Amino acid sequence: MIAERPRGLWFEPDSEERQIIGALREFLQAEVAPTAAERDESGAFPFEIVRKLGQMGVMGAQVPEEYGGAGLSTRIFARIVEEIAAVDGSLALTVASHNSLCIGHILLAGNEEQKRRFLPPLASGEVLGAWGLTEPGSGSDAAAMRTRAEETPEGFVLNGTKQFITQGSVAGVYVINARTDPAPSPEKKHLGLSALVFSGPTEGLRVGRKERKLGLNASDTAQLIFEDLKLPKEALLGERGKGFYDVMRVLEGGRIGIAAMAVGLGRAALEFAARYALEREQFGRPIAEFQAVSHKLAEMETELEAARLLYLKAAELRDAGKPYGHAAAQAKLFASEAAVRACDEAIQILGGYGYTKEYPVERYWRDARLTRIGEGTSEVLKVIIAKNLLSRYR
Ligand SMILES: Cc1cc2nc3c(=O)[nH]c(=O)nc-3n(C[C@H](O)[C@H](O)[C@H](O)COP(=O)(O)OP(=O)(O)OC[C@H]3O[C@@H](n4cnc5c(N)ncnc54)[C@H](O)[C@@H]3O)c2cc1C
Repeated sequence: MIAERPRGLWFEPDSEERQIIGALREFLQAEVAPTAAERDESGAFPFEIVRKLGQMGVMGAQVPEEYGGAGLSTRIFARIVEEIAAVDGSLALTVASHNSLCIGHILLAGNEEQKRRFLPPLASGEVLGAWGLTEPGSGSDAAAMRTRAEETPEGFVLNGTKQFITQGSVAGVYVINARTDPAPSPEKKHLGLSALVFSGPTEGLRVGRKERKLGLNASDTAQLIFEDLKLPKEALLGERGKGFYDVMRVLEGGRIGIAAMAVGLGRAALEFAARYALEREQFGRPIAEFQAVSHKLAEMETELEAARLLYLKAAELRDAGKPYGHAAAQAKLFASEAAVRACDEAIQILGGYGYTKEYPVERYWRDARLTRIGEGTSEVLKVIIAKNLLSRYR
């Protein structure tokens, strides 16, 4: 006998999800959508919008209520990111990285004191979180990082440079990954790494170059330079020397958010292109009547729907306490590739108009392009997925 499910079909929203997403949609339409293109042009960081999202529980979506958060599931958090991305990709990256990376690392590895100190201001949206892994010389090969945290009688002294840090110049809480101990061998360079958590701005931390990017212009991306930054022993986040394992787990969670962000951007492109195709006439009829155009729309929707199911599966696994890293890698790989394809086809459907800033589809494409790179490039995700799947047949 098949057990009755508490809600309908697993991929359909329950009433809590409907209510949260409905309220968020209203807010986004009223307060975010009208100014998203303007922020893309100016690069202005939306502090006021972030503060309001904080009041709605979005900036501490998965933080337990006892630390000031909304205590929501991964699934609902991912749906929130999709909705935000469908109107403003930059804001979606801000929300995703703040929640999944900085807060995610503190939730995963923080002790009680660290959770009580850092989570409430982050969850309220009054303070933004940044997470530093990447360096000028180490991206995909994260364990090759050169930032060092030397132990002193008082704690640690941090020196090094982190690259491409989201919220780098606007954050108030930083989680920084650094080498605290020498690697036992070049093959085991993932050992000896640790995370440190602290508030800023602080002496010894300098914001370097703010990146000028292809897209996601209203998301802050900056270099962080540490010059003899002194930290107390209590800054150590998680087990000393084993930080790399936490980094991998943080990234696994983050990939669900980036997959959802990709679906949101692809969906926005699809919706715009479908409406346009019904209105635009060539050869005496709407271009949607040409099979070459309608089949593009069919493929876009099918791929995006598959991408959503993949990220919902990864989120459901995470919420059920089951291993989800493989599913998250697949979701992020497929969703990011599908989103970029969808945005590219949307530009094609709009023809010359798609190539102009008159219409938003070029912005969706520029924003979606990052999802194939951040939190594990598509190439690296394939390495991870292949390694997992082959281990089943060895
Ligand atoms: C807008 C933005 C925001 C970001 N936010 C953050 C952040 O908040 N915190 C943070 O720590 N980092 C952040 N990053 C960094 C991001 O995670 C890295 O850019 C990404 O991991 C890739 O590293 P890289 O740029 O050094 O590329 P590289 O690692 O140098 O890769 C270059 C190319 O080589 C390929 N490649 C590398 N290794 C392999 C391999 N083993 N097999 C096959 N191909 C391979 C890659 O797929 C890629 O195509 C951000 C980046 C951007 C652009």
